[in-house]
Amino acid sequence: MSTLHSKAAERFIAHKEQEAWHNETLWLVREKRDRMATQLPEWEELRTLAADIKMHTITHLDNYLEQFAAKAESNGVIVHWAKDASEHNGIVLRILAEHGAKKLIKSKSMLAEECHLNPFLIEKGIDVVESDLGERILQLLHEPPSHIVMPAIHLKREEVGRLFEKEMHTEKGNSDPTYLTHAARKHLRNEFLTADVAMTGCNFGVAETGDMVVCTNEGNADMGTSFAKVHIVTMGIEKVIPDYQALSVYTRLLARSATGQPVTAYTSHYRKPQEGGELHLILVDNGRSEIIGNEDHIQTLKCIRCGACMNTCPVYRRSGGYSYTYFIPGPIGINLGMLRSPQEYADNVSACSLCFSCNNVCPVKIDLADQIYRWRQGLDSIGKADPMKKVMSTGMKYLFSHPAIYNTALKLAPIVNHFPRFIIYNRLNEWGIRRELPRFANETFTSLWKKGKVKKQTRTKPISK
Ligand code: SF4
Repeated sequence: MSTLHSKAAERFIAHKEQEAWHNETLWLVREKRDRMATQLPEWEELRTLAADIKMHTITHLDNYLEQFAAKAESNGVIVHWAKDASEHNGIVLRILAEHGAKKLIKSKSMLAEECHLNPFLIEKGIDVVESDLGERILQLLHEPPSHIVMPAIHLKREEVGRLFEKEMHTEKGNSDPTYLTHAARKHLRNEFLTADVAMTGCNFGVAETGDMVVCTNEGNADMGTSFAKVHIVTMGIEKVIPDYQALSVYTRLLARSATGQPVTAYTSHYRKPQEGGELHLILVDNGRSEIIGNEDHIQTLKCIRCGACMNTCPVYRRSGGYSYTYFIPGPIGINLGMLRSPQEYADNVSACSLCFSCNNVCPVKIDLADQIYRWRQGLDSIGKADPMKKVMSTGMKYLFSHPAIYNTALKLAPIVNHFPRFIIYNRLNEWGIRRELPRFANETFTSLWKKGKVKKQTRTKPISK
């Protein structure tokens, strides 16, 4: 049975050039990450430490959140708690209304994406401007991100050039990245100057100090928050960490894992409101506290959203971010989607080759592939198992538990070699669309063995390298 993922992936790979380019680009990022990792002899220890700190914090989340919120309040921050996306959006709208704000300048936030904040605010008449370059490009195209760190990675610079020609009146046919970046900077400068309120996400909330730490490469978060007097920080509750020592572990891992840089160009600490201004912090649950009680999937809460699992995933690289039905693609997105709604996002669990590469690169050692495997095992219990596979499994189970029938079936199998193709390769056999069955041997291994035609091999010398 084709899944929504496999159909979307089919459309993506139909453009051979795009598929090859997407795959190669992300693999280059993965290789940069590898080079960075091998330069640090303590890399594996850092990963273990990062995983342990996160697990400790998540399992003591109530204490750390209380400490963080109290410290932030004592720094002059106005703290809000949102149990779900709707409460989160309502709080943002209320703050904007209190300040008579009409324009919001945003830096990249996957949490805002999760809450569908932009369409909500736009519908209420707010001009929302994305200030991260990739996000701004996608906003102008009315498209969602296809990657959590490099949101417009699926676009070629020529496509961006054509978009800028239309939207920013740049030179026709000029897709030089430096030229386009300057054009975007000029275009965004006016937006920064005229925004009423700035919004950022938050990579880490430091409980000990109340700092909200935002990591970016473009400095757009700092531009936005420097001009507007009101700053709203939106943060998932799992982003809290104990102290600066913990922060130092994550800042060493984040950029190296994400883009192969030693550190992000900007690591901004927001602690108190600017003079005469307001700093709001919205702590969002939206299903996270339920995951804490889920032994099989609690580890997803350790995620620091570096995107390394996407860059390494052979399925993501070759099928693109839009082939997944959940807004976060790749291995972590498969798991988060299933935690959000197994009924709605079960399609994505097929988008995994179980190569376990994601487990190996994840800086916080999330057992991503193990979890996907577990989701697959539970598909039947939620009515999402592939009916054809179910029939096949039932048939195989019967065959394997009846040796006489199994042996007879094996003896008869070579007849299949003489079947007309359409009997084997038809729309009921999706497996065979791009694969050929090997020919069945005329005589089974068991039969050859019994006749003594199989000689026992004894290894006399080591296998040469
Ligand atoms: S699951 Fe791990 S590798 Fe994937 S985005 Fe999260 S932290 Fe990065």
